[in-house]
Amino acid sequence: MTEPVKRVYAFGKDAQGNNVTEGNTTMKATLGGKGANLAEMANIGLPVPPGFTISCQTCMEYANAGNVWPEGVLDTIHEYRLDLEDRIGKKIGDAEDPLLVSVRSGAPMSMPGMMDTVLNLGLNDESIIGLIKQTENPRFAWDSYRRFIQMFSNVVMGLDGDLFENAINAMKAVRGVKSDTDLTAEDLQELVAEFKGIFTENVSGEEYPALVVDGSVQFPQDPMVQLKLAIEAVFGSWNNPRAVLYRKKNKISDDLGTAVNVQCMVFGNKGNTSATGVAFTRNPANGAKEFYGDYLVNAQGEDVVAGIRNTSPIADLKHVEGLEEAGRELEEIFVLLENHFHDMMDIEFTIEQGKLFMLQTRVGKRTAAAALHIAIDMEKEGLIDKKEAVRRVAPDQLDQLLHPQFDKNADYDVLARGLNASPGAAVGEAVFSSADAVAAAEAGRKCVLVRWETNPDDLAGMIAAEGILTSHGGKTSHAAVIARGMGAPCVCGVEALKIDAEKKQATVAGTDVVIKEGDMISLDGTSGIVVLGAVDLVMPELTGDLDTILEWADEFRKLGVRANADNPEDAKLSRDFGASGIGLCRTEHMFLGERKQIIQTFILNDDDAVREKAVGELFEAQTGDFYGMFKEMDGLPVIVRLLDPPLHEFLESPRALDVEIARLEATGGDKTLIAEKRMLMERIDGFAEQNPMLGLRGCRLGIVYPILPEMQVRAIATATAKLKKEGLDPKPEIMIPLVSTVAELEKLRAVAEKIIAEVAAEEGVELDIEVGTMIELPRAAVTADEIATQADFFSFGTNDLTQTTFGFSRDDVEAEFVPQYLQEHLLPYNPFATIDPGVAKLVEMGVKLGHEGNPDLVCGVCGEHGGDPDSIHTFNKIGLDYVSCSPYRVPVARLAAAQAALEEE
Ligand code: ADP
Ligand code: MG
Ligand code: MG
Repeated sequence: MTEPVKRVYAFGKDAQGNNVTEGNTTMKATLGGKGANLAEMANIGLPVPPGFTISCQTCMEYANAGNVWPEGVLDTIHEYRLDLEDRIGKKIGDAEDPLLVSVRSGAPMSMPGMMDTVLNLGLNDESIIGLIKQTENPRFAWDSYRRFIQMFSNVVMGLDGDLFENAINAMKAVRGVKSDTDLTAEDLQELVAEFKGIFTENVSGEEYPALVVDGSVQFPQDPMVQLKLAIEAVFGSWNNPRAVLYRKKNKISDDLGTAVNVQCMVFGNKGNTSATGVAFTRNPANGAKEFYGDYLVNAQGEDVVAGIRNTSPIADLKHVEGLEEAGRELEEIFVLLENHFHDMMDIEFTIEQGKLFMLQTRVGKRTAAAALHIAIDMEKEGLIDKKEAVRRVAPDQLDQLLHPQFDKNADYDVLARGLNASPGAAVGEAVFSSADAVAAAEAGRKCVLVRWETNPDDLAGMIAAEGILTSHGGKTSHAAVIARGMGAPCVCGVEALKIDAEKKQATVAGTDVVIKEGDMISLDGTSGIVVLGAVDLVMPELTGDLDTILEWADEFRKLGVRANADNPEDAKLSRDFGASGIGLCRTEHMFLGERKQIIQTFILNDDDAVREKAVGELFEAQTGDFYGMFKEMDGLPVIVRLLDPPLHEFLESPRALDVEIARLEATGGDKTLIAEKRMLMERIDGFAEQNPMLGLRGCRLGIVYPILPEMQVRAIATATAKLKKEGLDPKPEIMIPLVSTVAELEKLRAVAEKIIAEVAAEEGVELDIEVGTMIELPRAAVTADEIATQADFFSFGTNDLTQTTFGFSRDDVEAEFVPQYLQEHLLPYNPFATIDPGVAKLVEMGVKLGHEGNPDLVCGVCGEHGGDPDSIHTFNKIGLDYVSCSPYRVPVARLAAAQAALEEE
């Protein structure tokens, strides 16, 4: 017989006050983050309302079986429910003193606001009487009941929340009151009846036959039916579209499932000594050491995040009559939690008639700036060590800091101010819906998403937009939390903004400005400023906290970090960002502009004299390019790759030429001109290849047209000699691309060495220039031992190596079927973004064999994977000497390399 699987875990105390918690914080894979930390808080003695957690695995079993409950779970849940009733001394649905519960989702990874939660479950026409009796507060009881019907209908049955909001608004209008809190117990009782009617009208009896009573659908009165449906809905929310999208964006596996927490309700809406709030133990926007968050008096659950009423800052709590003690206790708990978890925590709490309850804690999401600041502060405070501080900052997040800011010298008028919810600046066209943001981004236009407040359905638009602007909601509102997580600039709570989403426009109070869809606006999420028009942006510098963490990272990393740069400006930027050399300088980018004409002359002429003249011109130009690069990188290696792309890439497009000829002919153009163009076209056609990526390119080009590598090597050597004479220390290295056999490399290496020797003799300086190759073809990787005999270094060109290993043409496959492959899990991720294990195996083989052929071989990676943190972990394991990436990724790579090294320890 198989062991019975444990699927349900209790947390909190029993009737005698003993802790009967079965889980702890290490069990997130089973209990989800929320369940594991509810257990942990109970274990360390914090006031957690008791309950039980149904495991994430149960969710997956249920989902994988096509929404069928695994054998026996319902019985176990029944037992735990009875036990909970025992522990708390109340019964669900009781007409005297009913137990109410919340049914809360909670996945192993935090997915804020993505999945569903139902509050006040257990209310029905009988237990409402008990609730009134116990609380002597009919208003509170009816408010709870109407909230429950509303939430249950929306979350569990999928009815439109507006159906209920409209009914509330209509009631407020009839009563002539402004706020929900002005509605009386009688009003709310009437609303409950109306809500039940809405339920009956909108829920399909065919879909839910169990809810049909006397021929029509009724709001379920049996708390067990309520509970089962609610748990099923939470399980189902794991696969709702916004949760699926969030996981994709955050690289979270679809196989984890969500746990379900069934927990005794506590009430923040029992009057003026009750409250609910969310808080962080430090400031999540800038990392300052202060208690941070908002609370609302006389409110429940989601009210704070929804931004429905204006909240008060958490620091005020201990000064409010009736809440002082809870406020003080909360601050003690903040400190206790930090000391326990050694991190900045995010907290949900509720105060019921002066008594504090903890409802959630997790490691708090924070901006990159805050992450750096908190890591450094905590190291100073002795909460964590340097290594841990380096581990604490997510490399991808650094991107945020390398994001643009308003140029300090820019001239602009502030249109409106809001809360500085997520740092960085954004400029784009105003759009007023998620769909419009997506459409703008797809059309290649930058946009700023302007919303009253965002909700989880806006996620796609938030991803598409450069920045997010809301007129409502605090710093812990949905928009603020999500924007910080994504690293998108966000200004929220701009109260002057009056948005009309229907008309796609917004007015600004106190001005006659109307922002229409498509108007350029700028926002600065660091200062909370909104500007009409486009403000100039600048890139920030590597200073302060970022510099400190990167210096610490450098102490731990084993991988070197170089940059891919083709011009002196990028080279300088790389150096400033801490690159220890240039891993890839592509020379084809030096043949654009005016020089395209020169190389065209070379390609298209048979006359040797003309060709030589063209090559001479290119030599002059290239010598200047290399001089600039090597000077900028004085003392550091610069790997120059010889010309790589197929020659026709430098020629006119034959199609455009065809059109031009047709036009000339149609308009009776000059006959000799037409004849010339026809000749040109024939020649260009002669360069067309069936499959240029696998055609005459890379080292093959140098073998067919030796004059090209000779010219390039001469330019490199000449620039080097010149700098040496100026007393500098240039360190160029020559890289031969697309080698598949050792013979190719041997031949071109000989050419390079001959030219270098010639220049050294002519210039009278000693030149010691290394020659190596790119490994970007499988044959090169598997014969690396032979190839290494001719190479001083290898640079793995993982872009082409991925193409040639998979037989994928990147431009074609990424557009055509990779998205579908990802969707159907035929690929776990895009292999052009993160190195594929098969390709990594070739790299590993290349490194190993390469060292057999040449023990002194230096090995690096220069594909885009060089700047990808996950790939960097793989390269670190393989034991490469360095990675090379785009200049802006250099800080990211330094940090990721350190984390990879620390992981190996
Ligand atoms: P989310 O994951 O979206 O934050 P939660 O499960 O944390 O969802 O619940 C949403 C809100 O309901 C939170 O603000 C929480 O404080 C409140 N809530 C959940 N369970 C209870 C409970 N047992 N008593 C009182 N409030 C609760
Ligand atoms: Mg929560
Ligand atoms: Mg290549």
